[in-house]
Amino acid sequence: MKGDTKGHSTILLIYTGGTIGMVENKETGALEPFDFKHIAKHVPEIASFDFEVTTIQFIPSIDSSNIEPNVWGDMVRIISDNYYDYDGFVILHGTDTMAFTASALSFMLQNLSKPVIITGSQLPIGMFRTDGKENLITALQIAADKKDGKPMVPEVSVYFQNKLMRGNRISKINAENFNAFSSPNYPPLAKVGIHIRYDENAILKREFSGHFKPHYLLDTNVVILKLFPGISEETIDAMLSIKQLKGVILETYGTGNAMQKEWFIRRLGKAIEQGIVIVNITQCQTGKVEMDVYETGRRLMEVGVISGLDSTTEAAITKLMFLLGHNCTYKQVVEGMKHSLAGEITSALREFNPEEGEALPFLVRY
Ligand code: ASP
Repeated sequence: MKGDTKGHSTILLIYTGGTIGMVENKETGALEPFDFKHIAKHVPEIASFDFEVTTIQFIPSIDSSNIEPNVWGDMVRIISDNYYDYDGFVILHGTDTMAFTASALSFMLQNLSKPVIITGSQLPIGMFRTDGKENLITALQIAADKKDGKPMVPEVSVYFQNKLMRGNRISKINAENFNAFSSPNYPPLAKVGIHIRYDENAILKREFSGHFKPHYLLDTNVVILKLFPGISEETIDAMLSIKQLKGVILETYGTGNAMQKEWFIRRLGKAIEQGIVIVNITQCQTGKVEMDVYETGRRLMEVGVISGLDSTTEAAITKLMFLLGHNCTYKQVVEGMKHSLAGEITSALREFNPEEGEALPFLVRY
């Protein structure tokens, strides 16, 4: 699947599904996926790029609300099989679970040194006023952009409505407007207007000690437990009693606070003693967990809940799946959650090396 005849860069465009790849059937008015082999018919601009675009599509295409971790594995496999034949990858994906996919891929594609840019749209590409065309064209251009012969953005990112954002920092925040995503705790990697303006300080800088390594193992024995005033002991007990449960993202209030009820703290403590990892993530969009600020947070810390810092829920749950999927010990998972593996939290960047064993679970990259 090599294609490098025309220009300086070769890009693999992977259509997984979602609104962007649909056109209106003129007779019925219904939205239908179109054959991506004919992408140039809908986006003729692609033909005038000075780089080569090869397309590949999932059959059938997948509404992203139906995405499962095995589909992330399929995406990783495509990238891995084609890694050395292309300079960059653009994934077209529905917006609904794009933040989860972007986060998962950022962990599964270890030592990535090429751009993997995910985009989609709110309106199908074949419709008037579509946002799909601009998103696609700019994502391709960014994937092909180089500086001193090296790709500008060698990480998993999401391009949407004039902004390139780190993939594991985003959440979908709008079901209506074109600006569907926000990255509240991390600045954009690039802003797009007349020019594409990269923020080179924001782009992940890696010292490429290791070769690219795809990972496929994820453990889905995890839950997201969102607190609300009035949540019952029965509900919490039922969730924490799930057989095989290994990890919990506990969505708390503010800086990581929760009710101080004795039964609650005791139940969390019991789960932790059983080896279940509990990670504290704030329900707030912006800011981070600081469990030592209030007594209501401190109790969680004392019982062994670990801080998810400024992670999004999407990044935290996929990271937990990833670490648990590699049979990390409880201690390793706790260590892994504390450190940035792919820029998902504001903390020192570390390399995850499942094969290194317990003695060297992580290697400081820089
Ligand atoms: N339900 C669609 C999906 O996520 C919405 C979209 O494409 O934006 O696949």
